[in-house]
Amino acid sequence: MAGPLPPALLPDSAQVGESDVTLGGVSLGELAERFGTPLFVYDEATLRARCREAADAFDEGTAYASKAFLCGAMARLAREEGLWLDVATGGEYDVARRAGVPASRLVLHGNNKSSAELERAVDEGVHRVVVDSHDEIDRLGTLVGSHRVLDVLVRVTPGVEAHTHEFVRTGQEDSKFGFSIATGAAREAVTRLRQMRGIRLRGLHSHIGSQIFELDGYREAFAVVAAFAGEWPVEEISVGGGLGVPYVEGESAPSLTTWAAAVRAAAQSCGVPSAIRLTAEPGRAIVAQAAITLYRVGTVKDVPQRRYLAVDGGMSDNPRPVLYGSGYEVFDVGRPAEARPQAVRVVGKHCESGDVLVEEGWLPEGTGVGDLVATPVTGAYGYAMASTYNRVGRPPVVFVADGRARLVLRRETFDDLAALEVDPTAPPDAAAGLG
Ligand SMILES: *Cc1c(COP(=O)(O)O)cnc(C)c1O
Repeated sequence: MAGPLPPALLPDSAQVGESDVTLGGVSLGELAERFGTPLFVYDEATLRARCREAADAFDEGTAYASKAFLCGAMARLAREEGLWLDVATGGEYDVARRAGVPASRLVLHGNNKSSAELERAVDEGVHRVVVDSHDEIDRLGTLVGSHRVLDVLVRVTPGVEAHTHEFVRTGQEDSKFGFSIATGAAREAVTRLRQMRGIRLRGLHSHIGSQIFELDGYREAFAVVAAFAGEWPVEEISVGGGLGVPYVEGESAPSLTTWAAAVRAAAQSCGVPSAIRLTAEPGRAIVAQAAITLYRVGTVKDVPQRRYLAVDGGMSDNPRPVLYGSGYEVFDVGRPAEARPQAVRVVGKHCESGDVLVEEGWLPEGTGVGDLVATPVTGAYGYAMASTYNRVGRPPVVFVADGRARLVLRRETFDDLAALEVDPTAPPDAAAGLG
């Protein structure tokens, strides 16, 4: 038995009525009719407020970690609200550029950047490259020189274990990311970069993990990084991203503002000069709570152990439960304020038992086939990690604000899925493109 869905898990503009919920002044029931299900609905007010909060709380150069959710509309919105964009691949870089975000607003990450990725970023005047390996330094050496200059940060591993899932922990020594401070690798990278023509080493970067609720990890990491930074002139220290968000009833997380205040306090107590820019790159904390996913219930199956409620999406639009065992809430959009006594496991339509969206969900009595249900807090790492498993097309994404809905990504159709096929009925040579 669970009470009604806690409104704090919904986007900022949510209004819970007796028989519907509105986001940005738009009815979820009407959105499902108009765009079909599954459907991602993002509240622009929440997105803008979180971007603005991060931009105000940290210093210039603070970026939205676009891997959490990226499309052209999101790239533009983050920029409009004062953030730079952290991109980790040529593909993410390209989405931002096509959306009109200048390279000077992009921060290029990645533990294995290709020469092509580096070359485009250097050519176009990227804001920062966050250097991650000695091989990357070699590649940069051949790219920059007398005609080009590049601003870089060095990604260091402070040797701090964040309290979070093993797969999203990145600050520890045994990691594929960054240069270890403890082993001297970071010092060696700094020495090399400072001697290179065309490279301006601006500072240090660390990122200790994701879905972090305790600010202590940031304080510890900051102290290690600040001590290392004290050895040479540094203009910027980036604390990366990773701030957690509540997904289910009973969880709570620090705000972006509280996080920034903790970082500033750590900087002060470590004696970091106030002229040094303190930047960050939150992803999840910007977008997670801004969205909900709408699904239609298709079948209900009772087995002795439990009730399975199957919806028209699944692990293809939200792989986090199967990847990390993540928990979510579910609510009946038509009865959002009612108590939820009915225990269900919400599953998708994929051919795997692991295809679970909500392992232990609660819904009002009687919610069943044909009803519209929603999972809140699906704005981060849902669409971004979506797949076409079982040849299920990816859902559309709408942004809502001021009583209007704007389609920003349309539904992936069978034609879209077929677009990569080379004509299977053509003779082999023609199919291989050699004919
Ligand atoms: C993933 C990542 C982020 C964002 O992480 P969130 O947990 O979404 O805030 C920021 N910086 C780097 C380097 C990352 O890899």
